[in-house]
Amino acid sequence: MGQSKRLYEDDQRRGMSALDICIEAGAVQRCEIHEHICFDGRQPKSAAYDLAKKTWYKGEKHGFDSLPNLMEAIDEAYNQNSESKCAQCASNAARD
Ligand SMILES: [Zn+2]
Repeated sequence: MGQSKRLYEDDQRRGMSALDICIEAGAVQRCEIHEHICFDGRQPKSAAYDLAKKTWYKGEKHGFDSLPNLMEAIDEAYNQNSESKCAQCASNAARD
């Protein structure tokens, strides 16, 4: 039980790291108003891949044990945050 919770938390942390890389690369951006919401940035997903590879070869593993696993997490983080704009802002604008 304790073990699986820890694995889950590691997984969460890796997911956050992957999202951070996407944000840093500009592939995903965080809403300035709604900090918990991220959406598609100006850069393509490949920018996040490039940054992930660059940091990986510098020795920053971001908690991952292999580069393909890191790439997969980048892919997932990007796909989960690839709306064209903040859904919250969009629904607020629609209400005005
Ligand atoms: Zn927003």
